[in-house]
Amino acid sequence: MSQTLFERLISGELPTKVIYQDELVFAFPDINPVAPTHVLVVPKKPIPRIAEAKEEDQVVLGQLLLKAASVAEMLGLEKTGYRLVINNGRDGGETVPHLHCHILGGRTLRWPPG
Ligand code: 5GP
Repeated sequence: MSQTLFERLISGELPTKVIYQDELVFAFPDINPVAPTHVLVVPKKPIPRIAEAKEEDQVVLGQLLLKAASVAEMLGLEKTGYRLVINNGRDGGETVPHLHCHILGGRTLRWPPG
């Protein structure tokens, strides 16, 4: 099967700034930021979307959320707050079929989202 866009960023085939990585997850700036801070945290394993995650993915899913929080803190968002977003499927606004968690911060975010 062909590699996902995010796998190509993870491998270094496509260029990106690396904000954080470990054996399970990879964090990098979104190319089209919708907030002053907009970072994506993705599992290195190309799980297409949260709806397709399996029981065996428990550890990687835990790491995804834990590291999203620690990257947000590293980026100075802890005090003012931030939002973590996972889009799933068409109505959720998913455009890249490789699970990712958006970290959005640096401005007040409205609720509910559009
Ligand atoms: P989704 O809409 O699937 O939740 O989020 C996909 C995100 O990937 C979008 O916010 C989009 O801007 C970002 N994105 C798409 N292509 C690239 C790319 O080549 N590099 C980076 N850094 N982000 C990308």
